[in-house]
Amino acid sequence: MRTEDARPVRLKDYRPPDWLVETVELDVSLDPVATRVRAKLKLTPNPRAGAPAPVVLDGDELNLLALAIDGEPLTAERYTVTPDNLTIPQPPQRPFLLHIETVVDPSANTQLIGIYRSGNTYCTQCEAEGFRRITYFPDRPDVMAVYTTRIEADKTEAPVLLANGNLTASGDLADGRHFAVWHDPYPKPSYLFALVGGNLSSVDDRFVTLSGREVALRIYVEPGKEGRCAYAMDSLKRAMRWDEEVFGREYDLDLFMIVTVADFNMGAMENKGLNIFNDKYVLAGTETATDADFAHIEAIIAHEYFHNWTGNRITCRDWFQLCLKEGLTVFRDQEFSSDQRSRPVKRIADVRLLRAQQFTEDAGPLAHPVRPAVYNEINNFYTATVYEKGAEVVRMLNVLLGRQGFRRGMDLYFARHDGRAATVEDFIQCFADANERDLTQFMHWYSQAGTPEVTVTAAYDAKARALRLDVAQAVPPTPGQASKEPMVIPFVIGLIGRDGHDLPLVRDDGAEVERGVLVLTKPAERFTFSGIGQPPVLSLNRAFSAPVKVVANQSSADLRFLAARDSDPFNRWQAVQTLATSLLIDNVAALRGKRELRHDEGLIAALAAILADPALEPAFIGQALTMPGEADIARDIGHDVDPDAIFVARCELREAISERLHPALHDTYRRMSSREPYRPDAASAGRRALKNVCLDLLAATAESSAIALALHQYETADNMTDRMAALATLSLHERPERAEAIEDFYRRFETDPLVVDKWFSLQAMIPEPGTLARVRSLTAHPAFSFTNPNRLRALIGAFAHANQSQFNRADGAGHAFVADTVLALDQKNPQVAARLLSAFKSWRMLEATRRAHAEAALKRVAAREGLSRDVNDIVSRSLGA
Ligand SMILES: [Zn+2]
Repeated sequence: MRTEDARPVRLKDYRPPDWLVETVELDVSLDPVATRVRAKLKLTPNPRAGAPAPVVLDGDELNLLALAIDGEPLTAERYTVTPDNLTIPQPPQRPFLLHIETVVDPSANTQLIGIYRSGNTYCTQCEAEGFRRITYFPDRPDVMAVYTTRIEADKTEAPVLLANGNLTASGDLADGRHFAVWHDPYPKPSYLFALVGGNLSSVDDRFVTLSGREVALRIYVEPGKEGRCAYAMDSLKRAMRWDEEVFGREYDLDLFMIVTVADFNMGAMENKGLNIFNDKYVLAGTETATDADFAHIEAIIAHEYFHNWTGNRITCRDWFQLCLKEGLTVFRDQEFSSDQRSRPVKRIADVRLLRAQQFTEDAGPLAHPVRPAVYNEINNFYTATVYEKGAEVVRMLNVLLGRQGFRRGMDLYFARHDGRAATVEDFIQCFADANERDLTQFMHWYSQAGTPEVTVTAAYDAKARALRLDVAQAVPPTPGQASKEPMVIPFVIGLIGRDGHDLPLVRDDGAEVERGVLVLTKPAERFTFSGIGQPPVLSLNRAFSAPVKVVANQSSADLRFLAARDSDPFNRWQAVQTLATSLLIDNVAALRGKRELRHDEGLIAALAAILADPALEPAFIGQALTMPGEADIARDIGHDVDPDAIFVARCELREAISERLHPALHDTYRRMSSREPYRPDAASAGRRALKNVCLDLLAATAESSAIALALHQYETADNMTDRMAALATLSLHERPERAEAIEDFYRRFETDPLVVDKWFSLQAMIPEPGTLARVRSLTAHPAFSFTNPNRLRALIGAFAHANQSQFNRADGAGHAFVADTVLALDQKNPQVAARLLSAFKSWRMLEATRRAHAEAALKRVAAREGLSRDVNDIVSRSLGA
């Protein structure tokens, strides 16, 4: 644990490194409890640094065995060493070779950072600061070196030995051991180092690049799981082709490898030439993976592959620039999925995720800018803000500059910064230079936290045939940022005539508005459009062109019109969501005031029209029928939140939809059912998604025939999507069928940990008072494990993050349980513990009783002696200390 050096790190304190590392030669002898690491670093004084400087290397829980300069052992008075630090006060002021020998215990490494074991496989995770748990090193991304890695191991225990780059030598040694040597010709930061040793099987394929080079592709899995890699391999090849076609980026090594492991803190890691994946994001079969799993695999395989250019070839100067690689690469994977699937449906899904996770984060005590200015623990900044809002910022550049202007900026970025460690300023400067635009004000997106609110007021003048729009923007205060500057907001709008066609957008000075983009730059501004012969309906922030909250007070009639007629599919969906949200907020207030609930015939009519529209994609209709989530409603209410009232209001609305649209839902369910063999493509997945939304709504009234239909689907399904959806529907109804189905599901899939995770999550998300007791007892289930992050997230993570009413129980037992788990877990895996604790991110919005319970739970965590830096950071920010 590293609490003692609770050091705030500040962006403004950045200095170039005093020493550079040209080459790293590692010799790693794998052993379950005593892995020996010999490192030979070629250190060179940095010409950009100032006066002669000591060599100061980072470590973390290291044990030094030997130290030498140019082959001469260093006497004890020439250096100081602790587990966390190695200092040579007076090194030679010239290039020299530093030999370091350390020993680490992979089996005792429950943090899963550095070298550890997942099952019997040795693997590594070095981002952000894990390489210092392997050897002493200037462990910062702006130190880029060429790595050669020799690995040796027992040949029966680890017949496969992998590292970054290309294999240059291998062979047998005495005593049943063997070795392999890997060389990576591309200089890289230490966080991209990777090493794997184990008994693995590979699935092999090949890819011929744009310029005709052949690349070998290999996915390594536990023996017996080879049959579940086909979709991941296919996704990889499509991603490689897409990056060539859309961004002109070609792969650069002769070999690209993916290794899957069962114990992994994150989703996946983009190590150069050797991606390491949480097996959840590679392994998929019809009977075990849902459509959502297939879509995730496609997106994450692509994301990690795309990092080869945005992250690896061009890396980050320091960890404040994390969004430079993550926001950009998320944008790239979102675009890839949009091209492979339905663009509007993908956009709706991405915005749902952004609002649920990032808007919520931005509205609470953990709010931070896309590029934070200070951190205590960088592991806590792998957030929705850095990733998802970071991607939105890149997307706004695309909207502002247009497709071609955006591509010009990207081309310049690749040309100017290849092989270097860059900053956000470097990145934005490329778009400014390539397009001759001043993007100074745009930089506020990186420095100001909080979700901007854009308020639109319209006035139509029939005599002048003109429409006046008054647009104001404001960014709410967030921790450490009381007042904000106005942002550059690319706000795409449409004016729709009564016939449903878009009217021309011509400003009163005669200028046509290009691509519908109004560029907002001031706290308040006015736009006047001429030649408008009728009062138009406003379609605002089309395709969600900016990550803002829009306040427009549109009439229910206008929203229904947009739901039926808008040429922008995103805003058709948005109109339904806006109608539903305003109804739900009213009804939450009514429930708390013991008043009668409101019904909205307009919303029901809008849904009926969408269900009946043959031109719409099934996946889109499914999204339109899915009402806003409980966390979203809570965020829109904003204060004095009662999660039980939100839950009840949402149930009432689902019941009303079920009753009023019963025949149409039933008919759609039937039409979307298919006898064809399962295929994971987007069109088939969309039909299943709509079918299962209909099933869930039909069952919302708990009518017996609908429950029987769900049970029938559960029993006869030939794929996991349909089986899981039916089980999820059944799980909402406390009846004997539920218990039987839950037990049956476990018996069918008990040998498959990834499916057992679904079984844990499903039970943790049941929104009823018995769930906490059930979750507690499941922690004693033989299939549960505190040390496997996937199991922990599946059960306790799902309860804390995805069960609003039960995590926030009025008696405080949900908060107390999660706090206890965080405290128990912190000793083993601080990174995963801190992530779990972030479930408290909306505690300040709760009504007084629940808020007091949450505060007490957080204070109890804060009071514990010896907290990790990870948990200490989250708890103190959550409490506002
Ligand atoms: Zn990434």
